[in-house]
Amino acid sequence: MTDLTQFKRETTEWLEANCPASMRKTQTRSEGVFGGKKFTFPSDDAKLWFDLMVDKGWTAPQWAKEYGGAGLSSDEAKILNKEMDRLGCRKPLIGHGLWMLGPALLEYGTEQQKLEHLPKIARGEIRWCQGYSEPGSGSDLASLRCKAEDKGDHYLLNGQKSWTSDGDKADWIFCLVRTNDEGRKQEGITFLLFDMETPGITVRPVPLITGESHFCDTFLDNVEVPKDQVVGDVGKGWSVAKALLVHERTMMADIEKNMPKPKFSVDDYAKNYLSTDENGRLQDGLIRDRLAQHMIRDEAIKLTQRRAFEEGMAGDFDMRVATIFKYIGTEEKTNKDTLITDILGMAGAGWDTDNFSEDEQTKTHEWMSNKALTIAGGSSEVQLNVISKRALGLPEI
Ligand SMILES: Cc1cc2nc3c(=O)[nH]c(=O)nc-3n(C[C@H](O)[C@H](O)[C@H](O)COP(=O)(O)OP(=O)(O)OC[C@H]3O[C@@H](n4cnc5c(N)ncnc54)[C@H](O)[C@@H]3O)c2cc1C
Repeated sequence: MTDLTQFKRETTEWLEANCPASMRKTQTRSEGVFGGKKFTFPSDDAKLWFDLMVDKGWTAPQWAKEYGGAGLSSDEAKILNKEMDRLGCRKPLIGHGLWMLGPALLEYGTEQQKLEHLPKIARGEIRWCQGYSEPGSGSDLASLRCKAEDKGDHYLLNGQKSWTSDGDKADWIFCLVRTNDEGRKQEGITFLLFDMETPGITVRPVPLITGESHFCDTFLDNVEVPKDQVVGDVGKGWSVAKALLVHERTMMADIEKNMPKPKFSVDDYAKNYLSTDENGRLQDGLIRDRLAQHMIRDEAIKLTQRRAFEEGMAGDFDMRVATIFKYIGTEEKTNKDTLITDILGMAGAGWDTDNFSEDEQTKTHEWMSNKALTIAGGSSEVQLNVISKRALGLPEI
């Protein structure tokens, strides 16, 4: 028996023996495990599953053991992922630390920073948020003005960050600040890490159309950050920021895989909510056509992602594909949400009332909130600009 065959057998046996039955069911967004000091587990099984996976190092399977991972090879990690998918096991932990900061720290962090932060991310002890955008600096991120003054052993921060997702729930923030005003705007940006409890930070949640409050405005007023919390070189934070965005866009392109699994597929909705003819075909030809188009595009995206993943594993990863996948993945996701809403008809307008099922209400919320996916991490228009310039080599207009 080869090592990988044995690894697969042992992995399957372990998952079957240890993953609680309730952790193999589809989950709602509110059941996602984000970790952190303020986090409350949605159930005892979620906590048990999380603890068991943390002990195995399987929350971050490919990270080295000293960083809280399991040190799996890419082939072993692939087997683990596939088996978890096959058995329907939930992700034991999700969030900015695992998806974005961790991979960026592995590339740019000092050994001390890796040892300090990666194990806490893998063990879900610290929840992270992202302090990139500012009022007037979203798409044009490099124009950011949040100021960091050099005060010898520390920086003194003043300014405002906007759209900070879950800033009120996070323990630490990775943040872009301006340490220098001279030269190109990309120069003089520094990548900093700091505790959200540091004096001078005020976080204000922003209420949204969905009724939730996912974003925050984050105000920095004379916030002191020690200099050893700079990641990468001072004034070279733009490189770290861009590397992290590649991980963010890769995660967002494959958002469905990275988030709790939906209860029903789009064709389940069509079968349950629309009438069919005597051969079981959907009677509405327009919806039938849109459904077929969606399924073809969805399959094509998945296959292309798999090809890019395999190429990446073979050491041939092209950073530009993250932008392409971010664009097509999030556009197709919102296209799918609109299709489901149209299939549901009036039931797709469910809003906190006894007249709609829980799932119908969830779908209405998702249809509204998932539109944001084509904006977060860089809007679709900006991705198209990047693709035209970097991937296709077209001239700028
Ligand atoms: C769900 C969600 C979560 C987010 N979470 C975070 C977070 O945690 N931390 C954080 O720092 N930020 C976060 N953001 C902010 C996000 O990065 C910005 O919204 C995004 O970069 C766009 O910036 P903006 O909102 O300022 O829009 P603007 O830059 O003002 O753009 C407005 C419109 O103009 C278009 N546009 C702008 N420039 C161009 C151009 N050159 N060519 C063509 N069209 C253009 C855009 O596509 C958009 O349609 C989040 C956003 C969303 C929606």
